[in-house]
Amino acid sequence: MRKRYLPLLLTLFFVLSIISSVLASAPASFVPAETAEKMLADGNTRFLSEKYADRKIGKNERSELSKGQHPFAVIVTCSDSRVAPELLFDQGLGDLFVVRVAGNVLDAIELGSVEYAVEHLGAKLVVVLGHEKCGAVKAALDGGDLPPNIKAIADKIQPAVAVAKEQKAANLYEAAADANVINMIASLRSDPVIAHLEGVQLVGAKYHLESGQVTFFK
Ligand SMILES: [Zn+2]
Repeated sequence: MRKRYLPLLLTLFFVLSIISSVLASAPASFVPAETAEKMLADGNTRFLSEKYADRKIGKNERSELSKGQHPFAVIVTCSDSRVAPELLFDQGLGDLFVVRVAGNVLDAIELGSVEYAVEHLGAKLVVVLGHEKCGAVKAALDGGDLPPNIKAIADKIQPAVAVAKEQKAANLYEAAADANVINMIASLRSDPVIAHLEGVQLVGAKYHLESGQVTFFK
């Protein structure tokens, strides 16, 4: 009698394992860009008011995230120790795909990182986040004799320095930092992979060191 049920049980087990593997690999419902921007703005509000959310950093979250990641936004920002995206947007593990490099510049490697996040992980919002008093922008503006690798970063910021000078901006450093963000958004916009993806939005923003506020460019 029991032997009669064995094939049935094995079949059932087989079917259930297929269903669970399909569910595990099914694409998550991606967060639309507008919602993602609001989530970031709300997180920054919590950061400003020092009323933080329960951060998803515990062992349960780590266990869940070990199965896969679906970050809701990509943040391209500076390596500056004062500009930590997960903190200033009050987010947990798995929420943000972060590309950090001094001066928040985008070259092939950084563009490739953003391409991966939007094409394979499904993030719909890409934020290029500049900040006040950026050392990389200062190096580009001040010029001088820079070591080759730092010069490579400064060279990437030079077009923004030219824009700031052309504008005769009162604060050349801050104007150059803002122009640099806009230039990097343009680089993303002309990227062949990112440009054709539906629903992806690119937005510039600036982090203010003292107030802690992130302002999104309109
Ligand atoms: Zn910086």
